[in-house]
Amino acid sequence: MSAQAQRPGMEKYARLFTPLDLGFTTIKNRAIMGSMHTGLEEMPDGFERMAAYFAERAAGGVGMIITGGIAPNEEGGVVVKDQDGNPVFSASKLSTQREVAGHKLVTQAVHEADPDVKICMQILHMGPLAHNDELVAPTAIKSRISKYVPHELDAAGIEKQINDHANCAKLAQEAGYDGVEIIGSAGYLLSTFLVEKTNLRTDDYGGSYENRMRFPLEVVRRCRAAVGDDFIIVFRIAAMDMLQGGMSWDEITQLAKALEQAGTTIISTHFTWHESAVPTIATMVPRAAFTSVTARLRKEVSIPVITSNRINMPQVAEDVLARGDADLVSMARPMLADSQFMNKAANDAADEINTCIACNQACLDHTFSGKTTSCLVNPRACHETLLSYLPTNDSKSIAVIGAGPAGLAYATVAAERGHKVTLFDAASEIGGQFNLAKLVPGKEEFYETLRYYGKMIEKLNIDLRLNTRVDVDMLADSGFDRIIIATGISPRTPQIEGIDDEKVVGYIDALKGNKKIGKRVAIMGAGGIGFDVADYISHDGPSAALDIDLFAKEWGVDFKNHPRGGVTGVEPQVASADREIFLMQRKETAVGKGLGKTTGWTHRLTLSRRGVKMMNGIDYLKIDARGLHILRDNKPDLLEVDTIIVCAGQEPLRTLYDAAEAKGLPVDLVGGAYEAAELDAKAAIKQASEMAAII
Ligand code: FAD
Ligand code: NAP
Ligand code: SF4
Repeated sequence: MSAQAQRPGMEKYARLFTPLDLGFTTIKNRAIMGSMHTGLEEMPDGFERMAAYFAERAAGGVGMIITGGIAPNEEGGVVVKDQDGNPVFSASKLSTQREVAGHKLVTQAVHEADPDVKICMQILHMGPLAHNDELVAPTAIKSRISKYVPHELDAAGIEKQINDHANCAKLAQEAGYDGVEIIGSAGYLLSTFLVEKTNLRTDDYGGSYENRMRFPLEVVRRCRAAVGDDFIIVFRIAAMDMLQGGMSWDEITQLAKALEQAGTTIISTHFTWHESAVPTIATMVPRAAFTSVTARLRKEVSIPVITSNRINMPQVAEDVLARGDADLVSMARPMLADSQFMNKAANDAADEINTCIACNQACLDHTFSGKTTSCLVNPRACHETLLSYLPTNDSKSIAVIGAGPAGLAYATVAAERGHKVTLFDAASEIGGQFNLAKLVPGKEEFYETLRYYGKMIEKLNIDLRLNTRVDVDMLADSGFDRIIIATGISPRTPQIEGIDDEKVVGYIDALKGNKKIGKRVAIMGAGGIGFDVADYISHDGPSAALDIDLFAKEWGVDFKNHPRGGVTGVEPQVASADREIFLMQRKETAVGKGLGKTTGWTHRLTLSRRGVKMMNGIDYLKIDARGLHILRDNKPDLLEVDTIIVCAGQEPLRTLYDAAEAKGLPVDLVGGAYEAAELDAKAAIKQASEMAAII
């Protein structure tokens, strides 16, 4: 037994740490870092940054890494243009010899970090979802989520696409990758050949299912021929595409078997098309919700199968493997959140893992907004060369006032660097507003962030003083070298006649259950908190995020019978509280427009299915015994409600800072106390971490 094999967590998570022998090579454990586009691919120094990012994950103990998607040709990808409309340097395509050198930086860095870690490059032909003028598809059908109509491929075009995949795989091999992953799901090119509604061809590549499978199978065959036997080919299959009229179970198994024959090494199961109306990775999705589908497919093939989606802790992965649901577990976002995930698991220190809370706020929301990917709980992700927590040679005594996300991030980064930190909070527990967020059904993962920080406080010997409201006199002669004011916010109270009426309740009291909430409720303010409050009071029964069957019922998914796409003919069944709820804002924009790019639709859909009435362009006139008087479409109206919950944004809480500064104390502001507008936990943690990195 090697020294590594003796680490205690490797026994506890025995299946996760069992190597997988592929015949020609071995994956050292069962954890795969799944593919994520990071935006680094399009940057001039992208390869250097990707090298650092992936090498840190390789050193962190993962068995195999799959890169973000790289297009096999221009028509399959994103063409970045300068302001004059000329294409500019982009690493997101690999079709020429000239492009190999950059990729070598990545593969060398990974193999230097750990020669046993495998790295595969994902070949992503975006088909009708590509961003360029020459995009192609089996049929000229515009995707619901794309701006462009693709060009229909002719016979020569099909031949070119297949050859370009093979050429790309060959170049990836030259660049030092251990394999490629070909994406055949999500609404990208290969999957659009498979599904009837996106493939109306009448030639050899359309019509019968045999014909519709021809293109993806030929891609695999030619890639295999180009790279030889000793090279990993992963094929990502839509094992449940979540589309009305999508793929049937028979079609999926037929494809999987044919892919095995065509030379695929590993099948990776994917559970969506981007245009599907079922959330598959958001925080409201139960952990490991989709692995039963992988389990069924695993019985149909003799090659290894990867499962994925909402597997974010070692025990969850171990349980999936123990049930025999999969051979390998893909964790993409969890590796952004904590690059040392597998090392911590190996050391039986899972409680030190900074867990992905599936918020999508800094990863997918960034990706789909053209920003560099990062992570709400770990702002170093994809910024490894820019943000480092280096040991200090000038250790200071630092007081951090406020143990919300900003104070926690500051305290832990400063302590990790060698500063002596005392952390104060007036409350009896750490977490600040995260203690409210965690109460919202579907946000249970927020507990994990608090568990992580609690453990770090202990590990880094931070002197934690709870139940301590700090005032300026306590700071005056305290001797701290630096005082960090992270006191957060106070909720905004709109100045409206009758705002002191007893039917008016603040969101904190509403969420904590301090005040009774009636049957007819008006919520003033439809930002993130307004939506969360509406969810909280419209919700009935247990949280679907903790129950896969309930989740399936609420979103209309049939895991057991697997109708076409998993959803065809299945009606969502939503349980809701016996309340009439009005969710309002003054702005004319659509309610919920400012919510997360990739998750906002799930919140809007959930609330509208529960009958919550969303109203924009509202003027609040007054509150009296009859209810809330408003102006709607310039006409007076009365909402006869018995409760009005105020979710009207927040103001910075700076009294302590102002007093301390007036006394000339060495103070800095961070988080909500610094800026409440546009503040969320992502901004608070990032700002605090960046400040603590340089003190
Ligand atoms: P806070 O979290 O407000 O923490 C401030 C801390 O300072 C508190 O613990 C307080 O007790 C303490 N304090 C204040 N004065 C003193 C004093 N004098 N002495 C000692 N201690 C003091 N953000 C997201 O990004 N994503 C979400 O999904 C999300 N959901 C949310 C859901 C809800 C219901 C709420 C209420 C907020 C949510 N947020 C979310 C917002 C996020 O929680 C805040 O942006 C974040 O908590 C701000 O962090 P902070 O540390 O600046 O302030
Ligand atoms: P917010 O998103 O800024 O929303 C504040 C709401 O209050 C808006 O609807 C605003 O709309 C309204 N408002 C502002 N001033 C008002 C006034 N004087 N009178 C009446 N209404 C007023 O802030 P929040 O909802 O308090 O959330 C705080 C932070 O937490 C935000 O950054 C948010 O993103 C974050 N958060 C995120 C999530 C998430 O899921 N990602 C969840 C919860 C919270 P009008 O001005 O149009 O009326
Ligand atoms: Fe996970 Fe949120 Fe970080 Fe994305 S931003 S990796 S979803 S914690």
